[in-house]
Amino acid sequence: MIKIFSMLSPVKAGIAIMDRTITLPFLKDHHNHPSLYAVLDGSVYLGDAADEAEALTLIEERVGLAGRQGTGHHPGRDKNRGDNRSSGRDGNVILAHGWNDSRFSFSTSALDLLPPVFICGESLHNHLMNSGARELLRPDWKEAVDNIDDSSWVERHLPVILRLMIDIAGLDAGALARFYEMLEGRGVWYAEEMLMSSAAVIDVFREAGLLDRTSLWTAPESFREFNADERSFVKGMKIWADGALGARTAAVSMPWIDGVPGARTAGVSGKDDFDGTRLLIYSDDELSEFVAEAADAKKWLSIHSLGDLACDQVLDVLERYSDEQGILPSTRMEHCQFISLENAHRAWMLGVVLSMQPNFSVDSVRYADRLSPEMLERNNPFRMLIDEAGYVPGIDLVFGSDGMPHGQPAALENSLFPPFPGQRLTLYEFTSGYCAGAESGTMAMAVDIEKKKVSINQDESHDDRMNPDGCLRED
Ligand SMILES: [Zn+2]
Repeated sequence: MIKIFSMLSPVKAGIAIMDRTITLPFLKDHHNHPSLYAVLDGSVYLGDAADEAEALTLIEERVGLAGRQGTGHHPGRDKNRGDNRSSGRDGNVILAHGWNDSRFSFSTSALDLLPPVFICGESLHNHLMNSGARELLRPDWKEAVDNIDDSSWVERHLPVILRLMIDIAGLDAGALARFYEMLEGRGVWYAEEMLMSSAAVIDVFREAGLLDRTSLWTAPESFREFNADERSFVKGMKIWADGALGARTAAVSMPWIDGVPGARTAGVSGKDDFDGTRLLIYSDDELSEFVAEAADAKKWLSIHSLGDLACDQVLDVLERYSDEQGILPSTRMEHCQFISLENAHRAWMLGVVLSMQPNFSVDSVRYADRLSPEMLERNNPFRMLIDEAGYVPGIDLVFGSDGMPHGQPAALENSLFPPFPGQRLTLYEFTSGYCAGAESGTMAMAVDIEKKKVSINQDESHDDRMNPDGCLRED
């Protein structure tokens, strides 16, 4: 009667395969970037471009619209205290995003033929600026322009790059409201803002009536500039221990298998004797200072720790701090895609919450060009975390998307049908770690077990029966 969905594949279990529709509460996305995505939404999207030529055409097509997208005249920006502003210049920079560097690269000469353009890579960690954009932006953003090709610098200064992108395109309440409408259409109610670029973002959320649908995180450098009132809106400080797979800046313990050199090491950690492919952004002491800063401010600390080496370093630092001070600020580690069982135990003992993204299980396919088979299989080890290390979804293991992509279908599909069995989440684990209260709304999702696909059920034929074991039930 009960169709077990968790341990056995339906085919092996001899269960009739059929489509199911389940109704789930809207998602509470614990890792997103609403202000950045609201801005990118109006920019040129390169994610569907098959090659360089197609991408160049997409950017060229935007030229006629560039006047609307350019610099200046954005209410949010006028309130940016301490920001460099690029308003007042003649001309505009076109913002493009979604570029996947494993598919194609851009030649400098072709890019330089275009009007001023700033391209943000799919991972949000790699960027390109053509000579026109450099010229336009240099007066106000000299440091960023001079260092945009230096991945070590970029990883240490992501908040600056984010401010720059928001400055190019402009953020206002309308754009933010449209972004949340899009999220709602995909079954997401709440989205944590992991990187507020300035205190002005608080006003934009307020104006859009969205303060109760987010938690605001900001970089320590920004937090220091905030006044007491602004600080009261901040949940915590966000820092990065390493970079991203897309930009080859993640601190993973194996070299990229395609032989492409990774980012140069930051050279600050004393641990960069590997092969130049890993990037630990801060020294242990620098990280420890951030921990102390969050503790002093009585705020959460969120540490981007994507690679296994980043997890090693972060846990070394947290353990040392905890030993010395007797207590840690409330701490989250973000991504933890390659965390080992040993480190999972260490993090659990420290009371660290893991904030992870089921949709990144597809990195085991997407980055097969650069990660070894062993690393591909180690990615997103949810079964190990839950079954062996004792993590409990919704308590100390929370889920989000990082907006790659947004919405329930991808989140659920990658949870139920991931590339590796160790990445699988039951429906119950998924809802416990990822959903907002049902009062925020529910959405009907069509689960095609045979094709391993999840989509929004358009004709609303609901079957909202779900038992607590996370099995789909039919009676
Ligand atoms: Zn993020």
